[in-house]
Amino acid sequence: MEQVIIVGTGCAGLTAAIYTARANLSPLVLEGSQPGGQLTTTTEVENFPGFPEGIDGSELIMRMHKQAERFGARFVYGSVDEFEHREGINCVKVDGKWLETKALIIASGASARWLGLPGEKELVGHGLTSCATCDGAFYKNVPVCVVGGGDSACEEALFLTRFASEVYLIHRRDSLRASKIMADRALAHPKIKPLWNSAVVEYVADSEKKMRAVLLQDLTSNATRELEVKCVFVAIGHNANTGPFAGKLDIDNKGYLSPKQGTEMNLPGVFAAGDVADQVYRQAVTAAGLGCAAAISAERWLAEQ
Ligand code: NAP
Repeated sequence: MEQVIIVGTGCAGLTAAIYTARANLSPLVLEGSQPGGQLTTTTEVENFPGFPEGIDGSELIMRMHKQAERFGARFVYGSVDEFEHREGINCVKVDGKWLETKALIIASGASARWLGLPGEKELVGHGLTSCATCDGAFYKNVPVCVVGGGDSACEEALFLTRFASEVYLIHRRDSLRASKIMADRALAHPKIKPLWNSAVVEYVADSEKKMRAVLLQDLTSNATRELEVKCVFVAIGHNANTGPFAGKLDIDNKGYLSPKQGTEMNLPGVFAAGDVADQVYRQAVTAAGLGCAAAISAERWLAEQ
């Protein structure tokens, strides 16, 4: 029986690991299907406090990993396939084997939705991203595009106007899904050029395998044309990674874990931290903060038992 199992090794999971390890709880940390989480898909992180020159996303994760190991966190590869709460014990099935724990911290993150076009995986970080806050500043005075029509797409497009020469907002319909205030703001901006009833059907890379353009299809006429852009920001929503917990833990109508108070879930000893329970901020530093909060709550809960 473990004292604490932590699911996920993004910023939230690793911060929870540092705190619980330092509290002598010897946490068992499950790496998950994408070890290191979303930060490993970005290049430079410029807004994590304490790194005035910026830091590579993978490097930041590696340092957190080391810091957790230093205090005795144990890491194992594997993802949770199933979860059960049996007579006060939290059980997770990892690669076919049931593990038991008193406290469980779920920091399984969220995954950006992608368009599913050929070459997508190779272009991520080379002109294809899902995070304007992370990567927008790398595209100064060049044209970029945002795909999507929701609040995220409008927010990303507005943020990108600070850097890019023009921001094409590519949406598959002729009206935005975004809230009126966000839509009005985006459409009123002189740098934002909406392209209605349009879809990106192909990414066009240059000889260095960096984004050069997209092939755009007009969905009313089916005509295609090339649009020169140095970066494509995909903002078609995120999916919280809650699969094994569905039906057992409280999940809101958008699919995110919904703690009843702070990071505490509806079952005893279960805590949630980071993007799996946060559809609002989704930043590395907020995920780290929530990881810390979940660890302290878990430690206090264990002490009470
Ligand atoms: P969203 O509201 O679900 O919007 C996703 C957008 O992507 C929609 O316009 C959708 O088109 C489009 N889309 C989905 N799949 C697509 C595909 N395969 N190809 C092309 N387009 C596709 O997601 P979100 O914008 O990330 O927002 C999520 C939640 O967070 C919302 O509740 C939002 O209000 C909230 N949020 C709020 C703020 C804010 O208030 N500042 C900022 C960000 C997010 P259709 O419209 O045709 O379905």
